[in-house]
Amino acid sequence: MSGWKLSHESIPKNYDPNAQEPKWEEFWLSKEVYERVYKLKRDGRPIFFIDTPPPFTSGDLHVGQGYWVSIADTIARYKRMRGYDVLIPQGWDTHGLPTELKVENKLGISRNNRELFEKSCVEWTLKMISIMKADMIRLGYRPDWEGFEYSTHTESYLKAVQLSLIDMYEKGYVYLDTFPVIWCPKCETAIAQAETGYQEEDGFLYTVKFELEESGCISIATTRPELIPACQAIAVNPKDERYTRFVGKKVRVPYTQKSVPIIQDEDVDKEFGTGAVMVCSYGDEMDIKWIKRHALGSEQIIDEKGRFTKPEFLYGKSVKSARETIVQKLKNDGLLLDERAIKHKVLIHAERSDCRSPLEFLEKTQVMIRLKQSLDKIREIADNMLFYPEFMRNKLKDWLSSIEWDWIVSRQRVFGTPLPFYHCKACNALLPVPKELLPFDPRKQPPPFNKCVNCSSYDLEPLTDVCDGWIDSSITPLFVAGYFNGDKALFEQAYPASIRLQGQEIIRTWLFYTIFRCNAIAGKPPFKAAVVHGWVLDLEGRKMSKSLGGAALVRQVISQYGADSLRYTLLTFPIGFDFEYAHELVRKGKLFMQKIWSAYRFTAPYVRDVSDNIELSPVDHWILSELKTTIESVTRSFDRYEFSEGLSKFYDFFWHDFL
Ligand SMILES: [Zn+2]
Ligand SMILES: [Zn+2]
Repeated sequence: MSGWKLSHESIPKNYDPNAQEPKWEEFWLSKEVYERVYKLKRDGRPIFFIDTPPPFTSGDLHVGQGYWVSIADTIARYKRMRGYDVLIPQGWDTHGLPTELKVENKLGISRNNRELFEKSCVEWTLKMISIMKADMIRLGYRPDWEGFEYSTHTESYLKAVQLSLIDMYEKGYVYLDTFPVIWCPKCETAIAQAETGYQEEDGFLYTVKFELEESGCISIATTRPELIPACQAIAVNPKDERYTRFVGKKVRVPYTQKSVPIIQDEDVDKEFGTGAVMVCSYGDEMDIKWIKRHALGSEQIIDEKGRFTKPEFLYGKSVKSARETIVQKLKNDGLLLDERAIKHKVLIHAERSDCRSPLEFLEKTQVMIRLKQSLDKIREIADNMLFYPEFMRNKLKDWLSSIEWDWIVSRQRVFGTPLPFYHCKACNALLPVPKELLPFDPRKQPPPFNKCVNCSSYDLEPLTDVCDGWIDSSITPLFVAGYFNGDKALFEQAYPASIRLQGQEIIRTWLFYTIFRCNAIAGKPPFKAAVVHGWVLDLEGRKMSKSLGGAALVRQVISQYGADSLRYTLLTFPIGFDFEYAHELVRKGKLFMQKIWSAYRFTAPYVRDVSDNIELSPVDHWILSELKTTIESVTRSFDRYEFSEGLSKFYDFFWHDFL
């Protein structure tokens, strides 16, 4: 650096990030710098593999997404400084309902026109990726785009997902079952328990009179009178003396005249309504349990679109209109004893903020993955992993304790990974497609076999459903580490990943499914630690989301304050906790950037080569010692992913000692 002199005048007084930052982006993206810095070297140094989230491709990056991007980039740069060979991939979760809904609703293309529909989904996805990627780059994000960018709809990824499913099939996890599945009538597909949630709604509690077969009557309480025609039993609590004399008797179901028993079950809440409830196929998860537990029959009266198929007077009606119709009829017939406004919790399709439709339970033949016998193993893995912050471990373990059903894997949609199986109608076996033919689409390609390997029947049919999107994304550590393309050396060094970075809202999906699937496939847990961040909230205190409105876009914030100001601001919040975002915070962040810039402008002309045998003054010694202490202390914080703590130490040093 000898002879390199800067004058105050050659450095602008005002810090203008929009003049400075793009230069660095270009520098970081250059081929030369990539080869030297950002490329995975595989030179024998320990690999630090960050399993970054493949975001769903939704276009403009909002600040909530900019948050994890800032964390991922900070970790990668920090670990590189610490001497690691950093593996930071970036994937794109391209399949799934949201894209299909966009193509259906925004572009008006019907999914019945399958070819055009799929093509449009891919086009839409690529467009969204290019917007998102540009925003990420402008935020200073520098993953290994050249070596480790992936999209879940591409051939190599499809092949990996299909291989992973066949592997799990061979290990006995995958099976076909006819089962009441959780069904979204709006999206017209089965969904997993993990995608559901409850929403408090205004409703009515109806008290309805059922006639006993012999004589007399019993009153039941229900929020869903439209399901009366699917009633299979009346249930009361065994401790409820009001009803002891009714147990074992039969009632006639209004309008179907079906004869159903009065049964006892300790899960009936004596305090709810009259204390007697009807068991229908299916009003909620409790109905499924009761019907299985008491070996009751079942009858389906709602179709895939949420329309009634029977009885005749409800035919073709929506749930809402069927409810109105039957309530009116019960009133006219003198069977409605009471109608009371209540607030109650309704099971909805919560994971998709643009759906939130109430859900139904429909009996369907679905591809399932056995989960329940793996829960103890996953609990053990959770106990042995590191969690940052620590309390996130319990969020995972709470979820493990609440899992009740196996994983429904098939989705009745178009844009997804095809299930690589055929079904033998004669013996009901699942037949996997030979691995050498993968990726394979049974919906489009000629069958790879003409008879069943089990029973030699010719009566085979392709599975036409696609996979739940979490099937795709739950193998990211295996895919990136080369498990499916046979890069054994990389796999040995990079797997398990050093950390999984993700948001708290996908603990019960992405975190859980990845641990479960990767461990089942590779026999080893997928990562050593999970870094789980909280939500960025909008000014109304909701998780920032474009579909709700109120989302601040990264590009706009940067054009006003710069990427560094935004990144700095986001990282000043402790990881794992939610925080409200406001532009004002970034404006303050920018003032700090200006301070650093001014300090640079002031000192740059005096910076000399340290090899020039400089005599240090006592003040020099003092500030260098303060600097050393600060570096040690920031390092301790960054090692625990406590960026807010580290930044505040740096801020104190800079503001109180250095200036
Ligand atoms: Zn839905
Ligand atoms: Zn067969």
